[in-house]
Amino acid sequence: MYNLILFGPPGCGKGTQSDKLVEKYGLVHLSTGNLLRQEIKDKTPLGLEAKNFIDKGQLVPDEVVIGMVDSYFDQHKDAKGFLFDGFPRTVAQAKALDKLMELKKTEIGKVLVLDVNEEELIKRLVLRGKTSGRSDDADENIQRNRQEVYKKETLPVAAYYSKSGKVAKVDGMGSISEIFDRLSFHIDKKIK
Ligand code: ADP
Repeated sequence: MYNLILFGPPGCGKGTQSDKLVEKYGLVHLSTGNLLRQEIKDKTPLGLEAKNFIDKGQLVPDEVVIGMVDSYFDQHKDAKGFLFDGFPRTVAQAKALDKLMELKKTEIGKVLVLDVNEEELIKRLVLRGKTSGRSDDADENIQRNRQEVYKKETLPVAAYYSKSGKVAKVDGMGSISEIFDRLSFHIDKKIK
Protein backbone atom coordinates (compact mmCIF):
# COMPACT_ATOMS: atom_id res chain seq x y z
CA MET A 1 0.00 0.00 0.00
CA TYR A 2 1.28 3.48 -0.82
CA ASN A 3 -0.25 6.36 1.12
CA LEU A 4 0.28 10.00 0.46
CA ILE A 5 -0.70 13.22 2.21
CA LEU A 6 -1.23 16.34 0.14
CA PHE A 7 -0.90 19.27 2.48
CA GLY A 8 -1.37 23.01 2.13
CA PRO A 9 -3.57 26.01 2.89
CA PRO A 10 -7.12 26.52 1.59
CA GLY A 11 -6.93 27.50 -2.07
CA CYS A 12 -3.49 26.00 -2.70
CA GLY A 13 -4.82 23.61 -5.33
CA LYS A 14 -5.00 20.38 -3.33
CA GLY A 15 -8.32 19.37 -4.84
CA THR A 16 -7.25 20.00 -8.44
CA GLN A 17 -3.93 18.20 -8.04
CA SER A 18 -5.51 15.33 -6.07
CA ASP A 19 -7.86 14.49 -8.93
CA LYS A 20 -4.88 14.18 -11.28
CA LEU A 21 -2.70 12.28 -8.80
CA VAL A 22 -5.29 9.62 -7.93
CA GLU A 23 -5.79 8.97 -11.62
CA LYS A 24 -2.09 8.66 -12.39
CA TYR A 25 -1.18 6.50 -9.41
CA GLY A 26 -4.41 4.52 -8.94
CA LEU A 27 -4.97 5.76 -5.40
CA VAL A 28 -8.24 6.23 -3.54
CA HIS A 29 -8.95 9.92 -2.95
CA LEU A 30 -9.84 10.64 0.65
CA SER A 31 -10.87 14.29 0.82
CA THR A 32 -12.50 15.11 4.14
CA GLY A 33 -13.87 18.33 2.59
CA ASN A 34 -15.62 16.32 -0.17
CA LEU A 35 -16.91 13.74 2.30
CA LEU A 36 -18.30 16.47 4.54
CA ARG A 37 -19.96 18.25 1.61
CA GLN A 38 -21.60 14.96 0.58
CA GLU A 39 -22.93 14.49 4.14
CA ILE A 40 -24.35 18.03 3.99
CA LYS A 41 -25.97 17.33 0.64
CA ASP A 42 -27.51 14.12 1.99
CA LYS A 43 -28.74 16.03 5.08
CA THR A 44 -27.34 13.42 7.46
CA PRO A 45 -26.98 14.30 11.19
CA LEU A 46 -23.21 14.45 10.69
CA GLY A 47 -23.69 16.81 7.75
CA LEU A 48 -25.99 19.10 9.69
CA GLU A 49 -23.50 19.33 12.53
CA ALA A 50 -20.56 19.92 10.18
CA LYS A 51 -22.32 22.70 8.25
CA ASN A 52 -22.35 24.97 11.31
CA PHE A 53 -18.57 24.87 11.49
CA ILE A 54 -17.81 24.94 7.78
CA ASP A 55 -19.97 27.98 7.11
CA LYS A 56 -17.99 29.95 9.68
CA GLY A 57 -14.65 28.83 8.26
CA GLN A 58 -13.95 26.78 11.38
CA LEU A 59 -12.77 23.21 11.60
CA VAL A 60 -15.22 20.37 12.14
CA PRO A 61 -14.48 18.66 15.51
CA ASP A 62 -11.70 16.07 15.37
CA GLU A 63 -13.79 13.12 16.56
CA VAL A 64 -16.33 13.69 13.79
CA VAL A 65 -13.66 13.82 11.08
CA ILE A 66 -11.63 10.92 12.46
CA GLY A 67 -14.71 8.68 12.65
CA MET A 68 -15.53 9.53 9.05
CA VAL A 69 -11.98 8.73 7.89
CA ASP A 70 -11.92 5.39 9.75
CA SER A 71 -15.13 4.25 8.12
CA TYR A 72 -14.08 5.43 4.64
CA PHE A 73 -10.85 3.48 5.06
CA ASP A 74 -12.79 0.34 5.95
CA GLN A 75 -15.07 0.78 2.95
CA HIS A 76 -12.06 0.60 0.62
CA LYS A 77 -10.29 -2.54 1.73
CA ASP A 78 -8.88 -3.32 -1.71
CA ALA A 79 -7.25 0.08 -2.18
CA LYS A 80 -3.70 0.18 -3.53
CA GLY A 81 -3.20 3.25 -1.40
CA PHE A 82 -4.85 6.46 -0.29
CA LEU A 83 -4.31 10.08 -1.09
CA PHE A 84 -5.25 12.13 1.97
CA ASP A 85 -6.44 15.58 0.95
CA GLY A 86 -7.42 18.09 3.64
CA PHE A 87 -6.65 15.56 6.36
CA PRO A 88 -4.98 15.57 8.85
CA ARG A 89 -5.74 19.21 9.66
CA THR A 90 -4.83 19.14 13.36
CA VAL A 91 -2.12 17.37 15.35
CA ALA A 92 -4.82 15.27 17.03
CA GLN A 93 -5.94 14.10 13.58
CA ALA A 94 -2.34 13.32 12.61
CA LYS A 95 -1.96 11.17 15.71
CA ALA A 96 -5.22 9.38 14.95
CA LEU A 97 -3.98 8.73 11.41
CA ASP A 98 -0.75 7.25 12.78
CA LYS A 99 -2.81 4.87 14.87
CA LEU A 100 -4.95 3.92 11.89
CA MET A 101 -1.85 3.26 9.74
CA GLU A 102 -0.37 1.09 12.47
CA LEU A 103 -3.60 -0.83 12.90
CA LYS A 104 -3.76 -1.49 9.14
CA LYS A 105 -0.05 -2.39 9.03
CA THR A 106 0.76 0.32 6.55
CA GLU A 107 2.33 3.79 6.63
CA ILE A 108 2.45 7.25 5.10
CA GLY A 109 4.97 7.23 2.26
CA LYS A 110 5.22 10.94 1.64
CA VAL A 111 3.83 14.28 2.80
CA LEU A 112 3.77 16.77 -0.06
CA VAL A 113 3.35 20.38 1.02
CA LEU A 114 2.04 22.80 -1.60
CA ASP A 115 3.53 26.21 -1.11
CA VAL A 116 1.51 29.22 -2.34
CA ASN A 117 1.72 32.80 -1.09
CA GLU A 118 -1.25 34.26 0.78
CA GLU A 119 -2.24 36.95 -1.73
CA GLU A 120 -2.45 34.34 -4.47
CA LEU A 121 -4.53 32.10 -2.17
CA ILE A 122 -7.13 34.79 -1.51
CA LYS A 123 -7.20 35.62 -5.22
CA ARG A 124 -7.87 32.00 -6.15
CA LEU A 125 -10.53 31.60 -3.47
CA VAL A 126 -12.36 34.76 -4.51
CA LEU A 127 -12.38 33.43 -8.07
CA ARG A 128 -13.53 29.98 -6.92
CA GLY A 129 -16.28 31.64 -4.85
CA LYS A 130 -17.87 32.93 -8.06
CA THR A 131 -18.40 29.44 -9.47
CA SER A 132 -18.09 26.76 -6.77
CA GLY A 133 -21.44 27.37 -5.11
CA ARG A 134 -19.72 26.62 -1.80
CA SER A 135 -21.12 28.70 1.05
CA ASP A 136 -17.67 28.86 2.69
CA ASP A 137 -16.14 30.32 -0.49
CA ALA A 138 -18.60 33.14 -0.98
CA ASP A 139 -17.31 35.56 1.62
CA GLU A 140 -13.84 37.04 1.90
CA ASN A 141 -14.07 37.27 5.71
CA ILE A 142 -14.75 33.54 5.96
CA GLN A 143 -11.81 32.91 3.65
CA ARG A 144 -9.49 35.01 5.78
CA ASN A 145 -10.71 33.12 8.83
CA ARG A 146 -9.86 29.82 7.11
CA GLN A 147 -6.32 31.07 6.47
CA GLU A 148 -6.01 32.00 10.16
CA VAL A 149 -7.31 28.61 11.27
CA TYR A 150 -4.81 27.01 8.90
CA LYS A 151 -1.89 28.87 10.45
CA LYS A 152 -2.97 28.20 14.00
CA GLU A 153 -4.23 24.61 13.84
CA THR A 154 -2.97 23.03 10.64
CA LEU A 155 0.60 24.33 10.20
CA PRO A 156 1.69 22.47 13.36
CA VAL A 157 0.84 19.28 11.47
CA ALA A 158 3.70 20.01 9.05
CA ALA A 159 6.05 20.35 12.02
CA TYR A 160 4.69 17.09 13.40
CA TYR A 161 5.68 15.26 10.20
CA SER A 162 8.93 17.10 9.61
CA LYS A 163 10.69 14.81 12.09
CA SER A 164 9.76 11.80 9.96
CA GLY A 165 11.86 12.94 7.00
CA LYS A 166 8.89 12.32 4.69
CA VAL A 167 8.02 15.94 4.01
CA ALA A 168 8.72 17.58 0.65
CA LYS A 169 7.87 21.20 -0.03
CA VAL A 170 6.60 21.78 -3.55
CA ASP A 171 6.24 25.14 -5.28
CA GLY A 172 2.49 25.59 -5.84
CA MET A 173 2.80 28.64 -8.10
CA GLY A 174 2.57 28.16 -11.86
CA SER A 175 0.36 26.21 -14.23
CA ILE A 176 -1.64 23.15 -13.12
CA SER A 177 0.56 20.86 -15.21
CA GLU A 178 3.83 22.37 -13.97
CA ILE A 179 2.75 21.83 -10.38
CA PHE A 180 1.54 18.32 -11.20
CA ASP A 181 4.95 17.46 -12.68
CA ARG A 182 6.69 18.71 -9.54
CA LEU A 183 4.45 16.57 -7.32
CA SER A 184 4.86 13.51 -9.57
CA PHE A 185 8.63 13.88 -9.44
CA HIS A 186 8.63 13.36 -5.68
CA ILE A 187 6.24 10.41 -5.84
CA ASP A 188 8.15 8.69 -8.66
CA LYS A 189 11.37 9.07 -6.73
CA LYS A 190 9.75 7.37 -3.75
CA ILE A 191 7.94 4.61 -5.65
CA LYS A 192 10.96 3.52 -7.74
P1 ADP B 1 -10.16 23.82 1.24
O1 ADP B 1 -9.40 22.91 0.33
O2 ADP B 1 -10.67 25.03 0.57
O3 ADP B 1 -9.43 24.11 2.52
P2 ADP B 1 -11.85 21.61 2.07
O4 ADP B 1 -12.78 21.22 1.00
O5 ADP B 1 -10.68 20.75 2.34
O6 ADP B 1 -11.45 23.11 1.74
O7 ADP B 1 -12.64 21.78 3.45
C1 ADP B 1 -13.74 22.67 3.59
C2 ADP B 1 -14.11 22.82 5.07
O8 ADP B 1 -14.47 21.53 5.61
C3 ADP B 1 -12.99 23.32 5.98
O9 ADP B 1 -12.89 24.73 6.02
C4 ADP B 1 -13.42 22.73 7.33
O10 ADP B 1 -14.43 23.48 7.93
C5 ADP B 1 -14.02 21.38 6.95
N1 ADP B 1 -12.99 20.30 6.99
C6 ADP B 1 -12.48 19.62 5.93
N2 ADP B 1 -11.57 18.72 6.34
C7 ADP B 1 -11.48 18.84 7.68
C8 ADP B 1 -10.70 18.20 8.69
N3 ADP B 1 -9.81 17.26 8.38
N4 ADP B 1 -10.88 18.58 9.98
C9 ADP B 1 -11.77 19.52 10.30
N5 ADP B 1 -12.52 20.18 9.41
C10 ADP B 1 -12.39 19.84 8.11
